[in-house]
Amino acid sequence: MKKILFFIIFSVIKASALPTVAIFTTGGTISEKTDPKTNDSIPALSGEELIANVPELNKIANIKLIDFCNLDSSQMSPEIWANLSKKVDETLKDPKIVGAVITHGTDTMAEAAFFLELTLKTDKPVVFTGAMKNSSDPYFDGPANILNAVFQVISNKSKNWGVTVNLNQYINSARYVEKTNTTNMQTFESGEKGYLGYINDGIVYRFNDRLYKQKFNIPEKLPKVILYADYSGADGSLLKAAVDSKVDGIVIESFGSGNVNADVYENIKYAISKQIAVVITTRVLYGNVFPIYGDKGGGKELEKIGAIVRGNLRGPKARLLLMLTLPLVEKNHKKLNKYFSVP
Ligand code: ASP
Repeated sequence: MKKILFFIIFSVIKASALPTVAIFTTGGTISEKTDPKTNDSIPALSGEELIANVPELNKIANIKLIDFCNLDSSQMSPEIWANLSKKVDETLKDPKIVGAVITHGTDTMAEAAFFLELTLKTDKPVVFTGAMKNSSDPYFDGPANILNAVFQVISNKSKNWGVTVNLNQYINSARYVEKTNTTNMQTFESGEKGYLGYINDGIVYRFNDRLYKQKFNIPEKLPKVILYADYSGADGSLLKAAVDSKVDGIVIESFGSGNVNADVYENIKYAISKQIAVVITTRVLYGNVFPIYGDKGGGKELEKIGAIVRGNLRGPKARLLLMLTLPLVEKNHKKLNKYFSVP
């Protein structure tokens, strides 16, 4: 009896010495299994079941689990991420909680992480993770990724990185990370900006600091912003249809350093005449857009007519930034330049 009592007291003291980490589960492959009848990957694991796959967690942290939702990340939206962002901030107000891990589908994880990077008020580490193989797969990478994400949250080496994406041992900043491979476990990369760090055996190796920090309040209603992917020979009709459908903003995934053809240029002019904000990004993997070319549709001409030709965000992330900044400029769209001119 004495022995049991001693064991209980020892366990309580040990647990209270461990840091507390919040884990938000939201779905994605990491929470899925393969249906044996159809062979489809389907949502399956609750937050509790997912965490039960990682018994090592109990040795390094107390876990506060928040089973937020269970959605494939193709079903996620900026509105859901807005709610998630608020919930994370609210949870991290608790001084006992040192940071948060968010499990999320990988398809839209780069966008989700960027949305939270732009909107979270907390300075505590927030780490996104997920899996490329589901829980029925012999190569299920979920448990190791969750363990690494928690190790990252509790490490002193991960201070001031803001929101990060940690999969397959690599740590990426939310701003520059992109999914680069549809099925390979090494899918998240930050291109020319490089990884922030690496994690091995619970130790964080810090390579880089966060390059840039922007913060915005979440507006009550997010504006309607669409993404138009340009292609050679486009006649501009698709863009015109978007303008006529009454959107607040359009992000153009253009060519090279920020150029479109003459027909698309005319329809960008049409959009701007209707007070729609137009932001030019590029379909090229790396590098900024620049107002260089002077012909009809060249970046310089696009800037002259009022399009924003700045920065190095790819289309989906530029769209999120535009959704958060449009309410701040009250139709004076030139003011958007300062939000997009970042390294
Ligand atoms: N379709 C899945 C999702 O994004 C893919 C994954 O999680 O890896 O939710």
